[in-house]
Amino acid sequence: MKTLLKATLFLLSVLLACETPTEPLKIIAHRGYWKADGAAQNSIAALRAAGELGIYGTEFDVWMTADGELVVNHDSTFHGIAIDHAALADLRRYTLCNGEPIPTLGDYLKAAQDYPQLHLVLELKSNGDTDYNHDAFRKVMDCVYAYGVAARTSCISFSLEACKLFAEESNRVQYLDSDHSVEALHAFGIRGIDAHYSQYDRRPATITEAHALGMTVNTWTVNTLEDARRLHGLGVDMVTTDEPELLKGL
Ligand code: MG
Repeated sequence: MKTLLKATLFLLSVLLACETPTEPLKIIAHRGYWKADGAAQNSIAALRAAGELGIYGTEFDVWMTADGELVVNHDSTFHGIAIDHAALADLRRYTLCNGEPIPTLGDYLKAAQDYPQLHLVLELKSNGDTDYNHDAFRKVMDCVYAYGVAARTSCISFSLEACKLFAEESNRVQYLDSDHSVEALHAFGIRGIDAHYSQYDRRPATITEAHALGMTVNTWTVNTLEDARRLHGLGVDMVTTDEPELLKGL
């Protein structure tokens, strides 16, 4: 009986936490639409494929090289070379699996100018060093301004320090980790969250709490229609996916 009561109370809390979605779910291609023909993760071809798909946005990862260049790549290494210890010229000796050179952030944002409706979700990677975070943040913002895409660029990071820096210049910042409450993030000036979807399944009230504070809610990496529909029902604003074509119709 006690178990039944507990289960009922839990179900009620989930239902109360759910919001009736009034907005279409925003679909963001994770590392670009890299499953498209001729594309690779974080390639300019994947950016273009996302732009041509007509979805809300595309996500990509940014590292800074030892000579201060910003490059688009997920891992901290490229062909076994530690990006933050290498010069851009060292990385340019190799290519992505689709044959493209590793893009600089400038290359990437220049290509993004061909898709003015496409929202850009820029993940700044951190090596944990404060000087690195500050230098990379400043260079990222200078590049975003230089290519005229600031109004449609969101910045995300697992680095709380990087998110706090972005929050000083933009309200389109989403923190990727789940180790701080939405109230704490809001107090840091951060106006969005972007947690793994299991966090919202576990505690749907996080979404309503974030919305009550005027914060946006993104989630990753949502690759099935079933998961996307459930999360939309819980109230998330956007999902980041490796299957943007599948989820596009939602
Ligand atoms: Mg990323």
